[in-house]
This record gives sequence, C-alpha cells and structure tokens, in this order.
Amino acid sequence: MKSNLSVVAIALMMMINSANAQTDPAIVNSSIPIEMLFPEGKIKVLILSFDDGNIADRHLVKLMNEYGLVGTFHLNSNKLGTKDYLTKEEVKNLYKGHEVSGHTANHPNLPDLSKLDVIDEVLEDRKELERLVTYPVRGMSYPFGNTNDFVIKTISGLGIEYARTVGDTYDFNLPTDFLQWQPSIHLFGKTNYIPNDTANDKRELTQFYQLTNDFLKANSLALFYVWGHSWEYEGPGNKWAEVERFFKMISKNPDIYYTTQIDLVDYINAFKNLRFSVDKTMVTNLSSMDVFIKINNKVFTVEAGSTKQFN
Ligand SMILES: [Zn+2]
Repeated sequence: MKSNLSVVAIALMMMINSANAQTDPAIVNSSIPIEMLFPEGKIKVLILSFDDGNIADRHLVKLMNEYGLVGTFHLNSNKLGTKDYLTKEEVKNLYKGHEVSGHTANHPNLPDLSKLDVIDEVLEDRKELERLVTYPVRGMSYPFGNTNDFVIKTISGLGIEYARTVGDTYDFNLPTDFLQWQPSIHLFGKTNYIPNDTANDKRELTQFYQLTNDFLKANSLALFYVWGHSWEYEGPGNKWAEVERFFKMISKNPDIYYTTQIDLVDYINAFKNLRFSVDKTMVTNLSSMDVFIKINNKVFTVEAGSTKQFN
C-alpha cells in the first residue's frame, strides 16, 4: 500500500512538472533557446534600399509614402547637385521618415583605392550627408557592391555599422556580418541581367515575384531585403507601374514590420545586449527599444530600459 502511494505521488509530481514545463516560463534554463522576434512581436521584416540619389528618387519616395513604406537611401554626397542627381537642398525633406545612408562621396570602386582614399571617401560622404540631414549617418552600401577584407577592415573604424553588397541570397536570413550584408534580391531580379534579352527579363521578374510570394507565405522569422535604383524604372519600358504593383502586394500587411536598415541593426543589437539572470527567469533590456522574445512558444515584451521577471 505504502509503495503504491509513493508511485501515485511520483506520478503526480511528474504531471505537475510537465504542466509547469508547458505553462511556466520561470523554469526556462540554458537548454531552452530564447528566440528573437521583430519589433511588435512580428516575424517578418521588409527592408527597401536604393542607391545613388538619382532625381527619380522623387517619384519613388512619393510612391513609397503613399503606400506607407519606409526605405534606406544610399547617397553620394559629391554627386548631389550634378546632372540627374538630387540637389543638396532637397535631401532632408525628401527623405523625411526614411533613412539617409552613405554610398561614398564619389562612387569609386573601393577595392582599387588606397587606405587613405577609402577613409576619405567614406568620411567625406558621412560628414556632408550628416550636415544635410542633421543626424548621424551610420551605414552605407558599397559602390558597385564591391568590397574585400581590406575595405571592410578600413571602414569598420569609421563609425559605419552596416554595409550592403549586391550578391543576392534569394533567402530571408538575417545577416551574419553587418559589414557584408547581402540583400535577398534586386527589385525585379536584375542580378543576371542580359541587355536586350526580354525572355531573361521575364524569367527574372517571375523569380522576383516567386520570392515575394514565398516571403508573404513565410511562417518563421524572415527578413526580405530588396534593393535597387530608382533610375531603372525610368525611360524605355517604363517600370513604375510594376513598382506600384509590388508596393501594393507588400504594403499594409499586419504580419510585416516595415523598417529602415539602421533601425533593424539597432533592434538586433538591443536583442543581443539583453542581460539574463543565471537561471533565465529575469532579463534586463539596456536599450531604448522594446524587445520581443519567444521562450517556450510564449511571446514576451521586454520594455526599453526595464527588467522583466518571467513569473
Ligand atoms: Zn551606386
């Protein structure tokens, strides 16, 4: 009899423990992964990133504003005010609510330059853009997408926190290195562009929409990073209607968090800087952004500058 009672007691304890395991996050331990969610607890993020500061950005930004989309715009400060480029005077107002980012002062091929010239190109661009927009410019994209270890090492001491290349990944993974940030895809897929080959254009466009649909259907953490140039949608074969078609597909979706590149960098860093207690029952968020995490399939908001207890 006594031994039977012991068996029942042990069984009850096991049931309680297993119930706790599902409902009580206080028992989380180091073997249970703490997952990052995007701001507002969302699992999808869209980044739209455009290079060069061509006058066609005026129309692009107007369309993006109409659809409630935000972008990151990489500018060459010494090109501003020259033929086909925006004027310095309009930069601040045009890109209000978006991010202005670097693209070097003169758009050289950085791997060809001396260390001094790389530094000069990046810092001169930063300084002039910062004067125009009146906030720190903390990222860039590489002219022609070209970089190498020497360039990365050189720019990493210049206050550049992310830099985008042009090697499309065709996936939705987060970057493993902010200074070698590969986008998901070129807008309308021009990575394998062949001049005057309309069949190829069609294939690339099909692939682009396939990836867009994959993103819309994704049900795990997904970053869709689309990049391009506004001047590509001008001239023969006017592509603005196509741009609008894409914006319609991708905008105003409650599952997607729309953000600039630097804001996503700050958010990922805020997540990485969370400080957990040894037993993982408490966490301190040192940043000025609310951070959303998932533990045991439960979502928690760790408010900016606060300590949260999971019970
Ligand atoms: Zn460029």
